[in-house]
Parts: sequence; C-alpha cells; structure tokens
Amino acid sequence: MTYDYLVVGAGFAGSTVAERLASQCGRRVLVVDARDHVGGNAYDHLDEHGIRVHRYGPHVFHTSSDRVVRYLSAFTAWRPYEHRVLSHVEGRDVAMPICSRTIAALYGLDLGPAEMAAFFEERREKLARVRNSEDAIVARVGRELYDLLFAGYTRKQWGLDARELDASVCGRIPIRTSRDDRYFSDSFQAMPRDGFTAMFERMLAHPKIDVALGTRFEDVADRERFDRVVYTGPIDAYFGYRFGALPYRSLEFQFETHPIERYQRTAVVNYPGAEPYTRVSEFKHITGQEHPHTTIVREFPRATGEPYYPIPRAENRALYEKYAACAAAENNVTFVGRLAEYRYYNMDQVVASALATFEELAAERVA
Ligand code: FAD
Ligand code: UDP
Repeated sequence: MTYDYLVVGAGFAGSTVAERLASQCGRRVLVVDARDHVGGNAYDHLDEHGIRVHRYGPHVFHTSSDRVVRYLSAFTAWRPYEHRVLSHVEGRDVAMPICSRTIAALYGLDLGPAEMAAFFEERREKLARVRNSEDAIVARVGRELYDLLFAGYTRKQWGLDARELDASVCGRIPIRTSRDDRYFSDSFQAMPRDGFTAMFERMLAHPKIDVALGTRFEDVADRERFDRVVYTGPIDAYFGYRFGALPYRSLEFQFETHPIERYQRTAVVNYPGAEPYTRVSEFKHITGQEHPHTTIVREFPRATGEPYYPIPRAENRALYEKYAACAAAENNVTFVGRLAEYRYYNMDQVVASALATFEELAAERVA
C-alpha cells in the first residue's frame, strides 16, 4: 500500500488531521504511534475489574467552540457531565474553583455576589502588572487564599514556585463571586458516551487510513515515500534535542480499586498540602459507569518520565522558538499538537489547532 501522508501520533492532533485528510481530500494516510493504543493521552479502557479508567489521568471534555463540538459529534454521542472538584485544606474539603461555597466553608460567611466582590476587593493585592501565576491569583483574591489553595499545589505539580510560571497557568482556574462550583465555565461540558477510545476508533476507521501501533516514527522505513509528514510528538525529540531538551513535567499514576461504590464526593479532590500527590480522581463520577467497585488514581508529579506537560514560562518559550524556527524551515513536515507546539493545550484546543492545520494542508494541495 502506498500513502500520501505519514501522521505521527494517534492522539487528538494526529487522529483529527488523518481523518480530515482521508474523508475530505481522499488522501491515503498511515498513522503510526509508539504506544500500543490509539487516543494519545486521552486513551481510556476497562481495567481488570471492568471499570473504565483513563490510563494517563482524568480527562474531562469541555469547550466553548461549536466547531469542535460539531466535528467530534460525527464520531460520538455525548453524556452530559459537569466536573466538580474539592480541595483538601486544613482537614476539610472545600469547593474549587474559589466561589461563595469556598468562602462559606473556610470562613463561615454566607455571601452574595456583591459581598463576594467586596470580600475579594478588600483582600486583593493591587498590582501594576500581572507577571506570573502568583500575581494572577493574589491580584484577584489576595495572599491568604493563594497560600491555602494555590501555592503548595503549584509547587508540587510543577516543581517550581508560581512566581516562575506564566500567569496563564494558575489563570486557567476561574474565580467566581457566585455559588457556581463547576470546574469549567465552558458552554459545552460532556463526555463521549462510549469513552474516548471508541471515538478515536471511529475517527480512524476510514478505509483510506491505516494505523500501525507500537511503531516509532524513527523506525518507519523509507520516510521519503510520503508526500508529507504530520508530526505530533515532542518537537525537541524530532530535531534530536539539538538546542537541548525542552522541559516537560511528568507524572506517575497510582491506580487503586476499592470494593465500595463511591470513594469520594466528587470526581477529583485536589491536595495542596504536604501529601506527595496532587490529586485523587474517581473515574465513575466522570464516566457515569455503574459498578459495585470503584477505581481511583493518584497523581505523583515527577521531573522525568513521559512528557505530559509543557512548562509555560518565558525561558522555555525562548527555547521552543528555536525549534519552531527549524520546524518552519523543514520541508514537507507539519508540527501540530500539545507536544509539537509546546503549548499547554486542552483537548478541544488541540482539535481546533488540528482542524486549522488540515485547512492549511488542503489549501496547499489546491494551490
Ligand atoms: P498526545 O495525546 O500526547 O498524542 C501524541 C501521540 O504521539 C502519543 O500517543 C505518542 O505515543 C505519539 N508519539 C510521540 N512521539 C512519537 C514518535 N516518535 N513515534 C511514534 N509515536 C509518537 N485536556 C482536557 O481538555 N481536559 C482534561 O481534563 C485533561 N486532563 C489531562 C490530564 C493529564 C494528566 C494530562 C497529561 C493531560 C490532560 N489534558 C486534558 C490534555 C490532553 O491530554 C491533551 O490536550 C491532548 O491529549 C493532546 O493531544 P495530542 O494529540 O496533541 O498529544
Ligand atoms: N492549581 C492550584 N490548585 C488547585 C488547582 C489548580 O494551584 O487546586 C494550579 C496549578 O498550578 C495547576 C494549574 O492551576 O497546575 C492548572 O490546574 P488544572 O486543574 O487546570 O491542571 P491540569 O488538569 O491541566 O493538570
């Protein structure tokens, strides 16, 4: 079989580009992935107890992009799901993100929206400029809430002080004056009804797509026989780390199954304190599965291992820009996705980026 395109990586980026090239342009695509499954980090499967788990940590879909919803809906039905998280501070579980329920639990105050705004106004630090993730929080709610809910979690998760991270990292988390304790504010919050993996399998089931699992890009013979490569792995690896390795944060996942129906009140409990893990996630909340037992996962941040998180800060971006310049000069190779673009993307942002990449590729062929 001959192919027009080689797509490296069967996650959201690779699967979206491959599906579009095959179904919209009739191109023949070979998708390779080093892992033994499709779906990238969003991969889910039944564990040995028959409970659906996410191998690479809890993945909750949310977006405000109608276009992304329309696109993915061709491959999955949805189960409405609004994600809620508690933070375990000083022996109590309080609502996260910060909202009036958090203030009620921490301070015993029952505040309406205007009183909440005044509460924050009194405490927030009036900064001329928000330069980093610490500023992003103290400028809105003050140091006490920052110290309780953000400082320890962030240091644990990234191995860095929040002052050393872009404002966008802690800025991802909403801060509300209302009682709304949902973790996300997006207009669309739902999970693929049959799981992520089933959705990826439908995306890749096109007759013009072949998938080779357990296959590394580096081991694909005759790479020049493809018109073009779409690469979704780490960009520094592609270029042989020629400017030095880009920093990534890794995680170790520890799964446990308990002979009880429910382990905790919400899908995720965050641990900003001295525990060696950042959060505990219980999958049945997220998937809606009914089962007499339940599986949880604890996440232990690590400096080395699989590259799960690009680390958003100026010096890393400067190093990435060097690789991006090489990528722009590379003939017939396109870089897309969280690792290839070195961006702290959510799943929907990867799909949006992949759809835009497909459009560029399609326009190129017409031109
Ligand atoms: P990936 O999913 O990383 O896929 C890249 C694929 O390329 C991998 O399968 C890899 O094996 C393969 N590959 C790499 N190099 C090579 C090579 N040389 N040869 C062959 N194959 C290669 N997003 C959300 O929207 N909501 C969430 O709740 C959420 N939770 C998350 C929790 C955790 C713990 C993590 C780590 C991420 C989370 N994300 C979440 C982000 C989400 O995982 C990513 O945005 C998305 O999966 C990235 O898709 P991708 O295709 O760019 O990359
Ligand atoms: N964060 C925090 N305390 C929390 C939740 C989040 O300090 O209880 C900070 C932390 O730096 C984290 C970032 O906000 O890495 C983004 O959190 P999110 O839950 O979006 O992380 P992800 O799901 O991507 O791991």
